[in-house]
Amino acid sequence: MSRVYNFSAGPAVLPEEVLREAAEEMMDYKGSGMSVMEMSHRSKVYDTIMKEAEADLRELMGIPDNYRVLFLQGGASQQFAAIPMNLMKNKVADFIVTGQWAKKAYQEAQLYGKANKIASSEDETFSYIPDCSDLPVSPDADYVYICENNTIYGTKFKTLPNTKGKTLVADVSSCFLSEPVDVTKYGLLYGGVQKNIGPAGVVIVIVREDLITEDTLPGTPTMLKYKTHADARSLYNTPPAYGIYICGKVFKWLKKMGGLTVMRQRNEEKAKLLYDFLDESKLFKGTVRPEDRSLMNVPFVTGNEELDAKFVKEAKEAGLENLKGHRSVGGMRASIYNAMPREGVEALVAFMKKFEEENL
Ligand SMILES: *Cc1c(COP(=O)(O)O)cnc(C)c1O
Repeated sequence: MSRVYNFSAGPAVLPEEVLREAAEEMMDYKGSGMSVMEMSHRSKVYDTIMKEAEADLRELMGIPDNYRVLFLQGGASQQFAAIPMNLMKNKVADFIVTGQWAKKAYQEAQLYGKANKIASSEDETFSYIPDCSDLPVSPDADYVYICENNTIYGTKFKTLPNTKGKTLVADVSSCFLSEPVDVTKYGLLYGGVQKNIGPAGVVIVIVREDLITEDTLPGTPTMLKYKTHADARSLYNTPPAYGIYICGKVFKWLKKMGGLTVMRQRNEEKAKLLYDFLDESKLFKGTVRPEDRSLMNVPFVTGNEELDAKFVKEAKEAGLENLKGHRSVGGMRASIYNAMPREGVEALVAFMKKFEEENL
């Protein structure tokens, strides 16, 4: 067996320990005589998996009792519609557009009400986070929406926007569990788990109880109502059971690692290795304003498309995979999520140094 260092933006690297455990439990989960994939989602044994997953996530993030945790399907993209359907009581929401994912959410919300773009960094290809200390927040806005970590462009909100008292809604797909978070600052935060937590197919929504109501937009499908899933504890219909099981294992792994404070420290150290090299390199350069740099997604370029392609190809041959930038921006991107070991980043930096010597 040989594993590569996988820098994919998502689906992405998972802790080897978790994969090994899942493999061991594949044929017979804890004496049940079956795989978690094969068991009823109403069984006692599965109920324990689900309850422990939620309890561990609550502990890791310090989620207060007045927030509900929903394990749903449809990816982050389905939430682009579910959020306005559930939260747009006045049919008005404000958006801070810092990348493709925020833009998609903004465009989707226009189907349901008035979506206002109150700030954007599109003027400089989303390479920075705009100043959000005094934005023209709409007086009747139901919420202010951000994408907290921009997976494609590699920017991250280091301070949350001043929403002037309005509910903050955040897509945290690519920074989920990468550092401690104050859940009380948000009305709702959510993310697809395939970036930093588990296998594709699960989206986790953490939402304050008072935002879960019957009063959704007319025509909201039962399956898209938060109330449906909150009332049924994410068991209204068959949940993405196997995916939740793997997420649960990752939560336990994170707890064993020391929790989110330790993860932040590790993530900062890993990111620093790469950013320090980019800052001194004569060939490679980072594309993001330094103060807005993400700890999770690190885009960089040589400035020469052919050389970029050569780099990606040779890196792959050296066991460093999925370094090609998003199709919309080109260049390279290294996603260095929780499960990427420090050695992976060290190997990448060493390879970049060697490539620079050979190609400068
Ligand atoms: C990947 C990603 C999405 C889209 O996720 P899907 O689960 O494929 O819908 C949305 N937002 C962010 C920040 C992402 O990184």
